[in-house]
Amino acid sequence: MQDDGLDIDIQYIKGIGPYNKKLLNKKGIHTAVDLLENFPRDYEDRRRILKISQVNLGTCTVAGRVFDINEFRHQRPTRVEVILEDDSGRIPLVFFNQNYIAKVISKGDPIVATGNAEFNYGRLFFNNPDWEKLDDAGKVNLNHGRIVPVYGLTEGLSQSKMRTFIYNALTHFKDKIEDPIPKEALEPFDLPEREIALIRTHFPKPEEDLRAVREYATQYQKRMVFEEIFYLQYFWKRRKQEIKSQHGISFALKSEGIESFLAALPFELTASQKRVLEEIFADMKSDMPMNRLLQGDVGSGKTVVAFTAAVNAVLNGYQAAVMAPTEVLAHQHYVKACSMLQHLDFRVEYLFGKQKKSDKERITEKLGNGEINVIVGTHALFQENVNFRRLGLVVIDEQHRFGVEQRMELMGKGNRPDTLVMSATPIPRSVAMTIYGDMDYSVIDEMPKGRKEIFTEIASGDEEYLYSKIKETLERGESAYVVYPLIEETEKSDLKAAESGYEHLRKRFGDSTGLLHGRMKSAEKIEAMKKFFDKRTRILVSTTVIEVGIDSPDATLMIIVNAERFGLSQLHQLRGRIGRGDKLSHCILYTDNPKNERLHVIKRHTDGFKISIEDFRIRGPGEIMGTAQSGLPPFKLFDMFRDREMPELSEKVMGVIAKLEDRSTVDKLDSTVEERYGKKFRFKEVL
Ligand code: ADP
Ligand code: MG
Repeated sequence: MQDDGLDIDIQYIKGIGPYNKKLLNKKGIHTAVDLLENFPRDYEDRRRILKISQVNLGTCTVAGRVFDINEFRHQRPTRVEVILEDDSGRIPLVFFNQNYIAKVISKGDPIVATGNAEFNYGRLFFNNPDWEKLDDAGKVNLNHGRIVPVYGLTEGLSQSKMRTFIYNALTHFKDKIEDPIPKEALEPFDLPEREIALIRTHFPKPEEDLRAVREYATQYQKRMVFEEIFYLQYFWKRRKQEIKSQHGISFALKSEGIESFLAALPFELTASQKRVLEEIFADMKSDMPMNRLLQGDVGSGKTVVAFTAAVNAVLNGYQAAVMAPTEVLAHQHYVKACSMLQHLDFRVEYLFGKQKKSDKERITEKLGNGEINVIVGTHALFQENVNFRRLGLVVIDEQHRFGVEQRMELMGKGNRPDTLVMSATPIPRSVAMTIYGDMDYSVIDEMPKGRKEIFTEIASGDEEYLYSKIKETLERGESAYVVYPLIEETEKSDLKAAESGYEHLRKRFGDSTGLLHGRMKSAEKIEAMKKFFDKRTRILVSTTVIEVGIDSPDATLMIIVNAERFGLSQLHQLRGRIGRGDKLSHCILYTDNPKNERLHVIKRHTDGFKISIEDFRIRGPGEIMGTAQSGLPPFKLFDMFRDREMPELSEKVMGVIAKLEDRSTVDKLDSTVEERYGKKFRFKEVL
């Protein structure tokens, strides 16, 4: 074996070779580190070896010698029966369609087998058990007589192969597994060192409590979960230090102007909105650049908070930029900004990618000479040729739609503007701080008063039911959304379905039906939205372009067609489009599959946080709702509910390390973290 560091190609690890290398590559395992960090997804208790006479129905392990081998080659399926014997009795190990077994096992061989004991044709036998010869003197048995790890596999790989590869890598690289986290920082928290933690995570000690092992609760496993969070937190801390070391703008608090802006609103801010505004103003005052995440469930009223911050920036003589992930949402923000900021005499404009060239030129010129106070737009705002005279505040709406890199890029525009990013992704505070750890965090945790509960139902079958609901809605003078799925891979047929749905509705309801989808020209999209807001159309047939942000208080019916094709967070966002006024709203999840689990989650819960918990339960760790776009590699181990104390533990360890004031520790951590995350950040194109 070649003797390099942990980054050597797996094909040099004992037992792997080119064939298995290909299979492991398919699982994203390329180097020794990848292999060592390919953690078990479960464990199985094979500690107890039963006497053959004790075997009962179910899974168990037995050991003995081969008494006899019988082949039934002419039956279909073919069958080999290996009769295993110990001092208490005999039992057949039955293998179907595996004639080779008769060639590799001989009478008298010592064998250990784990499998499912079944009772059939009047006898007990093992059906296709996992087995191993015990003839290699001193060979460590990885598959029996212990708590064995269970890995995710691909075709061609077996559990026992995977166990062997990992075991070989562990034995070979044992002395090369370094721990960049100093012992002094780990010991107080009962966290073992990396080497032993890795070994025991793959191969738990036999005396370990099985339940703890399966829940990833042994100290060894916890250490591995811990470091996943620790390195990420450390990475963010370093970024944050970089940001805070820059010089930003110190805004004065223009109370009078802010008061007059708020007084003109048709509602009073909720206590939550007021609190987060205080936090934002404190950041704006400070001369360190603001970099703040504003979280709040769908409909909690983040937009007005952002505009209030924009008012303060403009009154200080700066420009504010508000960016949204879609043209439709950006345009809506633009319309809102125009009406809310009108009485303040602010100059507001709208910029997007496919705009007419002459309009673009006019706008960029005015951004450059400072005539525009507030610019709203898509990510076109941050193209190279867009220059601001005095950019003071950047607001990014629905930030989970943008990658980390994109966010970083925006912050680089102008003279280090203050940055406020907004997201409806409902994740626990501690997790938000881990995933978006370079930002400070504010949360709106209450809904505006007077919101009515939305009635959600799952419906299938006759479309007449949908038509009747639309009719009732129109008769009450209210409006309806009808949303069709549009998935990239099946875009053509999806678009057809939406268009033909639209035609059907038009036949029924005539000109009050409008259509909006991503393939339409910008001007057409905006026109379609305008018509809907002005109630010239009252039914809006749409694909998911309306998913984020759209805000029309008159809409009280949301029909989601083929609802089972949407993800939970999409469904939550879509339903969030209704129930915005003071009228009762109704959401119909229309589907051929009324048993779909996600639909029932949406029916049961309206709170985004609870939906996120369910989403997590259904999908498992690594794919926390809305974080797919965070640009971070997915978590391998961290489970935001099981391991919710981890971020805090990690903070504590960080504290101990800081007290050590040891330069070489910091260097080691810096390079480890750089290796882990520094390279993985890529610009993410979302639009
Ligand atoms: P989101 O947080 O999902 O972006 P919006 O900012 O679009 O939510 O707000 C949803 C709706 O609630 C808007 O129509 C907005 O005008 C309204 N709204 C915001 N704050 C309040 C409040 N304090 N009281 C009543 N309505 C409010
Ligand atoms: Mg919004």
